[in-house]
Amino acid sequence: MLLWNLSIRSRLCLCHFPVFDLKGFSGIGRGREKKVALMDPSKQCLICVPLTAKTVKKMLFQLELAKESGADVAELRVDLISGFDAAADLPVLLKDKPLPVIVTPRAKWEGGEYKGSEESRQDILRMAYDLGADYIDVELKVAGGFIQELRSRGKDSTTKIIVSNHNWDFTPSDEEIHATIEQMWATGGDIVKYVTTAQDITDVAQVFHFLSESKGPTIGLAMGPAGMISRLLAPKFGGYLTFGALCKGQESAPGQPTVQDLIEVYRVKSMDRDTMVYGVIGKPVYHSKGPVLHNKGFEELNLNKVYVPLLVDDFNKFMNVFNRPDFHGFSVTIPYKEDALKLCDRVENAAKIIGAVNTVVRETTGEYQGYNTDCEGALSAIEKGLRHSGLANNDETPLKGKLFVVIGAGGAGKALAYGAKERHARVVVANRNYERAKALAESVGGKAIELDQLSDFRPETGMILANSTSIGMEPEVTRSPIHKDALSAYALVFDAVYTPKQTQLLKDAAEMGAVTVSGEEMFYGQAFAQFRYFTDLPAPESAMRDVISKPAAAKKGKLRAPVSAQCSIGTYSRGRMISTRLGFDKLLQRGLYPNSAQFGMLMDKSQVQLVNLAFRC
Ligand code: NAP
Repeated sequence: MLLWNLSIRSRLCLCHFPVFDLKGFSGIGRGREKKVALMDPSKQCLICVPLTAKTVKKMLFQLELAKESGADVAELRVDLISGFDAAADLPVLLKDKPLPVIVTPRAKWEGGEYKGSEESRQDILRMAYDLGADYIDVELKVAGGFIQELRSRGKDSTTKIIVSNHNWDFTPSDEEIHATIEQMWATGGDIVKYVTTAQDITDVAQVFHFLSESKGPTIGLAMGPAGMISRLLAPKFGGYLTFGALCKGQESAPGQPTVQDLIEVYRVKSMDRDTMVYGVIGKPVYHSKGPVLHNKGFEELNLNKVYVPLLVDDFNKFMNVFNRPDFHGFSVTIPYKEDALKLCDRVENAAKIIGAVNTVVRETTGEYQGYNTDCEGALSAIEKGLRHSGLANNDETPLKGKLFVVIGAGGAGKALAYGAKERHARVVVANRNYERAKALAESVGGKAIELDQLSDFRPETGMILANSTSIGMEPEVTRSPIHKDALSAYALVFDAVYTPKQTQLLKDAAEMGAVTVSGEEMFYGQAFAQFRYFTDLPAPESAMRDVISKPAAAKKGKLRAPVSAQCSIGTYSRGRMISTRLGFDKLLQRGLYPNSAQFGMLMDKSQVQLVNLAFRC
C-alpha cells in the first residue's frame, strides 16, 4: 500500500518519491503488504560505543570510559589493535569488563582493518564465543558456514551472534535490502545489522522502513552526514542498538554522534515509537544550536518529542517523503525559506509579505502551515532593548514614529522592515544591491539609500539601526557595515549576526553610547515562537537560554566550576592537538609547569578522565 500526500504529490509531480509507512510500526511495506512480528516495544534501544584504540591497554581505558559515558554496550574493534594476539589479548579484554561487549575483528573486505588471514580472523570470533563475549559480529559473506559450524560444536554459549552487512557507497532499493535481510536471518544469527550509506536524507526512510517491519532484533543505520537521523531516531523505529562515539574525533564511521549527545541532547533512552519528531531543515545544518535549545525545552516540559538536524539537499523531496503524522514541525533555515513558502498549503500573512517561511507545522490533515518567526524574534528583541534601557516605557508600540534603518534586503532584512512598518516606524533600507533596497523600501512605504551613503546618513538623532547582512560574521569579525562615528546618531543598534555574539558593529555602537541588542536575542525570540507553534505551549525560556549560555552548569550532576585537567606529560602543542581531537574548545594556557598544559574548560568527570587517558596513552 502506498500512502501519499496527494495534494503535494500532484503539485510537485514527485511521483517517484515514496512515503514510508505512515503508521510507524504497522509493518506496511512499499509494494509489499506483509504483516510481520513486531519488535517488543518495551525493549529499549541500546547505545553502543565503538572502541577504536590501537592497543589493548588503551582499549581497556576506553572501556571504562564507555561505561562512565552511560553507554550500554561497547564494540571492541580488535581489528584496529596493532599486533592483536587473540590468545593473549582477548582474555584480558573480556575479563572483568565493566559492560557488555561486541567482539568485532572487521574484515578488510567489509571496510575493516584486519590484516591476518581469514582463518585467523574467524578464530578470534570462535575464541570470543568460547570465552563468553556478549556478542560477536560476523559478516554476512561468511556467516552461513561459520554459524552452522559454531552451533554444530554443541558448546553452550550465551554469546549472541550479530550478522552484519555494510554498503559503503549507497542505499540499495527496498527490494534488495529486503532480500539481503532475509539471507541474513537464514544464516541462523540472533541479530541482524544492516548498514547502508545515505547519499540523501530520504534514503534514511528505507532504513526506518526495514527497522519497522523487522522480524527480530535488527540494527539499521545509514552512514554519512545525510544519514545522521538514522542514528538519532533508531529507538523510535525499533532499532536494537545505535552507535555513539566516545567523544568527537573518536567516531568509527562517518556521521556518528557522541554518546553524550545521544543521551543528553536527544534523550534516546526515553525515546519510543510515539516520540514526535521535529527538526531544523538546512544545508549546512550541523552547526545549528536548534537541537540543543528545543530538546532542552521538550525535556523541561516532559514532552515526548525530539528535535533533530535535517541535512536536506532537496526540500520538496524531503517534505514529501517525510510527510507523516509523527514528523510534526520544522524550523527552516538557509537556503530553503523561499522553498518552504512555496510548498506550504497555508501561509500566515506576515510570512507571505516577507516572502519567507522559517517554521512549518504539519496539520492533522497532512497539510503544511507556514509561519515566519524571524520577524517576531527580531522586533521583540529590539522592543525589549528599548524598554530595558529606559528608551521607551511599557508602551505597546515603542517603535512608533522612530526612524528605523535596516541594512540588508534579504530574508532577515525583509522581516525587520516588515516588522518595523507593522509597529509604525518610518523605515529606511540600505543595501549593497540598491534595486533590492528600493523594492523592499517601496513594499513597506519607506525610503531606500545606497549602502555607501549610510555613514553620512544622519537626518536626526535617536534612530534605530538594524544590520541584517552577514557583515561582521565569523570569520570576518572585525568588519562592520557602517563607520563608527555615524553611530552617534543611533539610540539603539541591533545586529542579526550572532556569531560572534558581540560583533564589531555592536562594540562600536556601545562605545558611541548606543544601546545594543545582539542577534542572539533574535535567535532566542524566533526559537521561542517556533516552540509555541510546535507544542501550543510557552517555551521554558530560562532553561532554554541556560543550556546555550551555560551548557555545563545546566546539566545536572556535572561539575559546575572550571576544572583544570593538569596534564603533566606532553608539551603544549601535543595538548592542543589532543584537546582538538577530543572536541574541547581549546587549550587555554600553558600549565603551571614547563612541560605541562592546562584545560580551563567546563568538563564533566568522563571528559577529565578522557584528557588524562589521552595523555597517558
Ligand atoms: P540573505 O537572504 O542571503 O541576505 C543577505 C543580505 O546581506 C543581502 O541584503 C545582501 O546584500 C547582504 N550582504 C551579504 N554579503 C554582503 C557584503 N559582503 N556586503 C554587503 N552586503 C552583503 O540572508 P538572510 O537570511 O537575510 O541572513 C542575513 C544575516 O542575518 C546572516 O548573517 C544570518 O546569520 C543573520 N540571521 C540571524 C538570525 C538570528 O536568529 N539572529 C536569523 C536569520 C538571519 P545583496 O542584496 O546586495 O546581496
